[in-house]
Amino acid sequence: VENAVVKNCAATGELCFYMGVYKIDDRTLSIEEMAERASIACRSVSGGMREHITYFDEKMQRKMLEEELIGSECYRALHNKEFCVYFQPIYGVKAKKFVCAEALARWNHPKHGTILPEKFLPIFEKNGFITELDLYVLEQACAFQKKRADEGLGKLPMSVNISRTSLYNPSMFDKINATARKYKVEPKNLRIEVKESVFTDNSTTLIETIKHLRSAGYPIVLDGFGGGASSMNTLKKMPFDVLKLDMKFMEGFEKNGKIGAIITSLVRTGKWLNAPLLAEGVETREQFEFLESIGCGYIQGYYFARPVPEDEFTALLAENRVTMQDTAVENYEMDVDINKIFGNDSVLSKLIGSIFGGFGIYEFTGDKLEVIRVNEEYYNLMGYAADNRYLEENTNVWELLFPDVV
Ligand code: C2E
Ligand code: CA
Ligand code: CA
Repeated sequence: VENAVVKNCAATGELCFYMGVYKIDDRTLSIEEMAERASIACRSVSGGMREHITYFDEKMQRKMLEEELIGSECYRALHNKEFCVYFQPIYGVKAKKFVCAEALARWNHPKHGTILPEKFLPIFEKNGFITELDLYVLEQACAFQKKRADEGLGKLPMSVNISRTSLYNPSMFDKINATARKYKVEPKNLRIEVKESVFTDNSTTLIETIKHLRSAGYPIVLDGFGGGASSMNTLKKMPFDVLKLDMKFMEGFEKNGKIGAIITSLVRTGKWLNAPLLAEGVETREQFEFLESIGCGYIQGYYFARPVPEDEFTALLAENRVTMQDTAVENYEMDVDINKIFGNDSVLSKLIGSIFGGFGIYEFTGDKLEVIRVNEEYYNLMGYAADNRYLEENTNVWELLFPDVV
């Protein structure tokens, strides 16, 4: 039984062909099970390998059994309270203190010790248990907030991760809302983190759930921003309040000099989309100081604290010079609401457009005049078609205005 895949080799631009093979040694298996084994073999070939054909073997067999075990144990584990929630604080640059926290799932397995999400999540995504887990973590995060409120401590907004599979569930909104109400958590204090890739999904249920949550006041955090899935055009249409920078940027920060410039431009993008940027995976003082200097709104990472269990987290908050504050997502302070001036459905934008015509905001960077934001009239003036009203960020305006001179 064979399973094949074509991968694009990033280094050379060549297309590579990989094949996973299951040699039939157990004839009692169904064709689907055999094909699954071939597919497991195929998936175990990672990029850069010289071997293009991989056979299903014992190691893979063990991994598969482990996956099956994890998949079959999850309901029991939930019932036995083996899942727990770790909290990682998030630092607000302007407030100079921890202003919220992210709740992350852990599995304390009686036999295997602590299991990290990377191991169990893909399996739960497949068997659908992820929705139970998402709601469990959300409930624990709300219970934690309620406990603090009962003790008269300051409110601390919480971020929870909601997977794509869960968002497909049409009753997700009601379930989240019911849990927040049960623990008297105001929507502004419960942030919903969704992966950037979710926004490129064409499912209307999924996008509706996100919009519904947002209009009920739950801030939406776009997790893994800049990881590659979304274009500026998609971003403009999507409902979110905070952009959470993909961790890859911090990983490459020291090694690659260009990354600083890219992060700076992403912070700027966030400003014009009216959504603050949260950088995660921040581990060093250099990274922290750089992010602070370019106006990044929030910072999360080992530099401040690792995700820790509830009691340690409570101690961390108590001992910290940091005092909590009850805040909604902080937006950039601007004297004018930039979206009203540039948004094509705003009255102000139409009025200004009809009086002054086309205009835009530019930034002069060395030898280039780059466009940051323009109004509708600007597109008319420049002859852009109605369905293509999008200027690439960093478009060199000199080239647009004076093509003959450049
Ligand atoms: P994520 O949402 O991107 O979470 C951030 C991950 O980065 C966490 O890993 C966190 O422990 C880790 N991290 C935080 N600061 C640093 C740092 O400075 N350096 C490095 N190298 N890593 C850092 P974790 O807890 O293992 O979670 C992995 C992923 O699992 C999460 O990625 C999230 O997508 C998912 N996840 C965790 N809990 C849940 C959950 O309850 N529901 C869903 N749907 N997904 C969850
Ligand atoms: Ca997250
Ligand atoms: Ca992330």
